[in-house]
Amino acid sequence: MIADAYRLKYTFGIDYGTSYTKYGPITLSEPRVVHTRGLFLRDLPESVKMRIPSEVLSRGIVVGDEEVRNYLSSVRDVQRNLKYPLRDGIARKDDDDAWKVLRELTRYSLAQFPVSDPDFNGWLVSSALSALAPDYMYKALFDIFTELAGEIKIYAVTVVPQPLAVAIAENAVNCIIIEGGHGNIQIAPISFALIREGLVALNRGGAEANAITREILKDMGYSDIAREEYAVEIIKRAAGLVPRNLKDAIRVAKSNPERFVTKVKLSPVVEVEFTKEYAWARFMIGEIIFNPNHEEIKSYIDQSRIRIENAVIGDITLYGEMDLASAVITSLRSVSVEIQERVASQIILSGGALSWRVPSGLEDVAVDSVTKVKVMLDERNPELASRTGVRIVSEPQHSAWRGAVIYGYALPLSLEWSDSAKEGWYFVHGSRT
Ligand code: ADP
Ligand code: MG
Repeated sequence: MIADAYRLKYTFGIDYGTSYTKYGPITLSEPRVVHTRGLFLRDLPESVKMRIPSEVLSRGIVVGDEEVRNYLSSVRDVQRNLKYPLRDGIARKDDDDAWKVLRELTRYSLAQFPVSDPDFNGWLVSSALSALAPDYMYKALFDIFTELAGEIKIYAVTVVPQPLAVAIAENAVNCIIIEGGHGNIQIAPISFALIREGLVALNRGGAEANAITREILKDMGYSDIAREEYAVEIIKRAAGLVPRNLKDAIRVAKSNPERFVTKVKLSPVVEVEFTKEYAWARFMIGEIIFNPNHEEIKSYIDQSRIRIENAVIGDITLYGEMDLASAVITSLRSVSVEIQERVASQIILSGGALSWRVPSGLEDVAVDSVTKVKVMLDERNPELASRTGVRIVSEPQHSAWRGAVIYGYALPLSLEWSDSAKEGWYFVHGSRT
């Protein structure tokens, strides 16, 4: 019998995000965060091999930000050996390397919390996956935990879709969750459970903001820096702005560029400057996430410098160009009319890609993500906008993890995993005694 007190110690959450995995036991106030990537230790010079601990070498793969950085420069073919397993939150079924990375990430996460308690019977692991995750991902994840159970005590495992986890963390029963991650944005109506018919996904996220930042950097003459994702990421966050209205913002920025020039210091020896000529371009970085349908952005697409296109996962289309307000309306239309009003009463934003704020002094033209969504909805459907409250969770990158942990704590252990209902506990072989 697993008591509440046990669950309060040994529930473990893992949120598999496209760019970051958030993990840790229920006892943490915030999760640990690690890049969702792994480095295969292949093609190594003998001189490097000698200096790597044998247990690391025999695993053949490292994960963890420090660990990967340690070996990054020793691996010859980084392109081939540095693997990001998820695209838009999904790992391909036949992508063996991706599954090796996910397995190692899972092992790494759990191994960081060794337990010596003699009453420890194994972790209750609650993992958050994209709402679009196909069935094979659930199965592959359960296989990973079963395999790891030989090394780390695991009692049972469950999976919760990320938007539902966010709703749980927010204690929201009826709502629309907009979860903006690195690879995609999930728009999910919730009424107690996730309403799958109403799920709308956009094939955009933080990655597209990075992509346009990269192209702007090239235009500004920083081609070398543009090649380094790490640098692009910092510049995006520091310089990117979300305009209340793109056209107005660009007009203001072009007539008054000195207000919008900025410098981003990347290291003691490298700095990037958005000069008067390019200061207006800062607004495209934020806008592309919310709405890519503008001439200024189109010109990059037409030149094939960035790609905004639909993608298909299973029977779900991820829309490339659909703006965020249309996505909310499309989602809501698929919900039965009778409950639309309840679901639409609150829209909750979450995910790092929606973490935009306004630098002080630019409030006349720049907005935060919540205001942006309100403004867009108001343009598209003022009646809906007037009835809907929009807010953002307090820690956008952590809420899916938090929700997973709460879910794992509360989900009755008498409920066995059901493939059709996609809920319940998967008891790792031999764990249930
Ligand atoms: P995922 O779960 O898909 O890995 P996260 O919710 O962890 O995504 O968010 C990561 C994304 O959020 C990245 O694209 C990152 O660049 C972006 N991001 C994080 N913080 C900020 C910020 N302050 N401003 C803009 N983008 C941000
Ligand atoms: Mg996420």
